[in-house]
Amino acid sequence: MNILVLNCGSSSLKFQLIATDLERIERRADQRLAYGMIDRIGGAAILNFAVEGQKPEKSAAPIRNISAALDAVIKWIASQSIEGVKNLGDIDAVGHRVVHGGEYFAQSVLIDDDVLQTIEDCIELAPLHNPANIRGIQAVREIFGKTLPQAAVFDTAFHQTLPPKAFLYAIPYQLYRRHKIRRYGFHGTSHRYVAYQYRTVNNIPRENVNIITLHLGNGSSIAAIRGGNTIDTSMGLTPLEGLVMGTRSGDLDPAILEFVGAKEGLTIHETEMMLNKQSGLLGISGLTNDMRELLAEAEESDDRRARLAIEIFCYRVGKYIGSYLAAMNGTDAIIFAGGIGENSSKIRALICENLGWLGVRLDEGRNDECVGGREGVISADDSRLKIWVIPTNEELLIARDTVRLIHGLI
Ligand code: AMP
Repeated sequence: MNILVLNCGSSSLKFQLIATDLERIERRADQRLAYGMIDRIGGAAILNFAVEGQKPEKSAAPIRNISAALDAVIKWIASQSIEGVKNLGDIDAVGHRVVHGGEYFAQSVLIDDDVLQTIEDCIELAPLHNPANIRGIQAVREIFGKTLPQAAVFDTAFHQTLPPKAFLYAIPYQLYRRHKIRRYGFHGTSHRYVAYQYRTVNNIPRENVNIITLHLGNGSSIAAIRGGNTIDTSMGLTPLEGLVMGTRSGDLDPAILEFVGAKEGLTIHETEMMLNKQSGLLGISGLTNDMRELLAEAEESDDRRARLAIEIFCYRVGKYIGSYLAAMNGTDAIIFAGGIGENSSKIRALICENLGWLGVRLDEGRNDECVGGREGVISADDSRLKIWVIPTNEELLIARDTVRLIHGLI
């Protein structure tokens, strides 16, 4: 089957075309055929498309909305010589990344009118993301008709196993009852993929998976997975809580909202925007949200604030690992994923330095080798805990879920 995986944002669309089916999943022989993204939808958009194994094509075109963006993707796919994909009819289903499924969805689902309505009901929990996801689903219906199977794979679903002691905030309980204010957690598809890959490579049953997964990228989160299920995770009602991120502050004293507002003359909305867009690595360093650039600044110019941003980032990750070790009563492994987790041996080394008390020891050579999409163990043989790098692949999981849903296996 050819599955089109879509990730629709407010002004962007990312896609992958993946050939997979039950037999390929079993053999782990799924194959990405093409991928790309359209940025700055709504104006002069930038299109970046590539057939697997070929050089990416970059172009610009005015694209007014998600529907027009999807149309451009489909036309491009049809114009390429991709094996097994001659026209629209060769796309068998579409899988969507949907950000918020609230408490309604603990797993992926095939989309019908009721599901679409429920995703709409979750808009107030993700006002920036769910509307774009819905527009993507509607655009597929317009272009392919209503009978093409579409699946929704939620960022929040994997974390629905959190127990109340982990998902409730210590605020008046009625706020949870009335408005469903609680920790939902995000990056669920990434944490689930990494946990799945870990158990497959190690050939252990799901219920024996006791690990801490670190998704460290521009957005970062950590999950405590015990018996195969998430029991705690660092993002909350929104993705703002938890670790220090590229531009998000992560954890802070909520009294800061009013204090900053009063001092700087900002509304609550403006302050929240500041916490989401101008904080984190960017806010501390005053330079950039890109960890690569910060590491270069720290190394080459010994920039004090770049060093501070890196230090605070790693310190926060270490604190979370410590608290999750207590929450889980110990772990078998700690796994790095995400743009920073998969590529920066330096950041991994800095984080693990603080875990010496646990008996964690990295193997320098292995750590340096596991970059650019390579999977492997990076701890030394005598380390008390195994440390892994497992490159995440949310799109693959979305494609596989879509196939399994079509076959009634979810
Ligand atoms: P993601 O959001 O998972 O795509 O991760 C993106 C982030 O990964 C970028 O903003 C960079 O900060 C970071 N990153 C990618 N490659 C490296 C690298 N070699 N060293 C440090 N950070 C990196």
